[in-house]
Amino acid sequence: MVKSDPFDNATKQVNDACDVLGIKDKGLRDYLIMPNRFLRLKVPVKMDNGKIRVFTGFRCQHNNDRGPYKGGIRYFDPEGGVKYMEREVMALSSWMTWKCAVVDVPLGGGKGGIFVNPKKEKLSDGEMERLTRQFASKIAEVIGPQKDIPAPDVYTTGREMTQIMDTFTKMSGNNYSPGTITGKPIPVGGSLARNVATGLGNAYCIREAAKILKIKLKGARVVLQGFGNASTFSGEYLEKMGAKCIAASDSKGSILVSKGFKVQKLLDWKNKKGTVVGFPGSRKISTEQLLTTKCEILVPGALENQINASIAKKLQCKIIGEAANGPTLPEADPILYKKKIFVIPDILANSGGVCISYLEWVQNNMGYYWSFDEVAKKMESNIVRGLKDTHSISKKHKIDNRKAAMVLAVGRVLEAFEHKGIWP
Ligand code: NAD
Repeated sequence: MVKSDPFDNATKQVNDACDVLGIKDKGLRDYLIMPNRFLRLKVPVKMDNGKIRVFTGFRCQHNNDRGPYKGGIRYFDPEGGVKYMEREVMALSSWMTWKCAVVDVPLGGGKGGIFVNPKKEKLSDGEMERLTRQFASKIAEVIGPQKDIPAPDVYTTGREMTQIMDTFTKMSGNNYSPGTITGKPIPVGGSLARNVATGLGNAYCIREAAKILKIKLKGARVVLQGFGNASTFSGEYLEKMGAKCIAASDSKGSILVSKGFKVQKLLDWKNKKGTVVGFPGSRKISTEQLLTTKCEILVPGALENQINASIAKKLQCKIIGEAANGPTLPEADPILYKKKIFVIPDILANSGGVCISYLEWVQNNMGYYWSFDEVAKKMESNIVRGLKDTHSISKKHKIDNRKAAMVLAVGRVLEAFEHKGIWP
């Protein structure tokens, strides 16, 4: 399958928002679309066998009008190779700009990574560390707590974040700088609630959408696609709000439990058996059956491109909380809008992660740390405002929530730019 160009998609979304905002000036549109800076780096590493291998790394800084750049570092090898990854990193950095703006987090957009699949290639811990520290040394001059604050992404974890922070600290004359990077383990400056942030934020969004639609959360049926970090915590917190999970899936298959299941029980089962399939009292169903199960809340929380036009026509849910990035194809959006399904677009639904990353950075800068509840409450306030603002723009312009979120975000970045202008 020929994949569409991700940066072309990101560009189209900005142009669509500009149409709604009445921005005709091509120069202004180009300003909003193009990244400020794109670095392509040679990352040489001495491998365990004594040979040198050269990797390709990237850091893209899209926009910093509202604050320092923010965005993950992924170690991945997408189909389409280095060239495709370049476009993907550019697109993802653009989406980070809009994600931060939609929830009014005072940060900009960035993204980076290395073209490598450490799982497939079975890199040793030593090779991973040398790769990470070499990459960190190369991006050190463009990152920093007031410049650009990376975070974990595909196949990078708190371990890599700590190594990047440590490399940066050593290179800046031992200037202790935990705010250089987020997603760190707690003992080295991480934030409480970061591990649950994405699912919790999605649950807050869904709760607010249910209020707008006047749907009672008590007993509301939830379907979870995927059973990893984003989807299980979405399910767990919705369960705490009174909802009932009735279906879930993972890479090995999908299951339905009509009378409902407890998320923790299914997690225990998956931890033991390696899959949700076979859970006592469940029935195995297809991916299409999972997505189109009659329910109040659908959480696509695993993969991109799941809801196409044909699936959209068959959906029987009232709210979609997009925990995953890009689960809905553009062709499906008009169908969902016509069916009056309340879609919480990914840049809003899964922004809990970046909200708490922002709060981690704030705590690092202060040198003072909040409790789990304090962090969660601050994130809730940003997310709820983001959802309400998005909904009112959607009503005002009679557009779907995805477009509305972009209109809100692009408008906010533009406002900051207009205050500052171009210098020199
Ligand atoms: P994860 O690795 O913890 O979980 C992914 C889940 O998807 C696993 O349960 C896996 O079995 C399942 N899966 C894989 N292939 C599948 C298939 N064909 N059908 C059904 N399920 C399948 O990953 P995650 O961190 O939860 O990320 C999931 C999505 O959420 C991604 O799109 C990610 O970009 C997005 N997201 C995550 C975060 C975060 O903080 N974790 C933040 C923002 C966005």
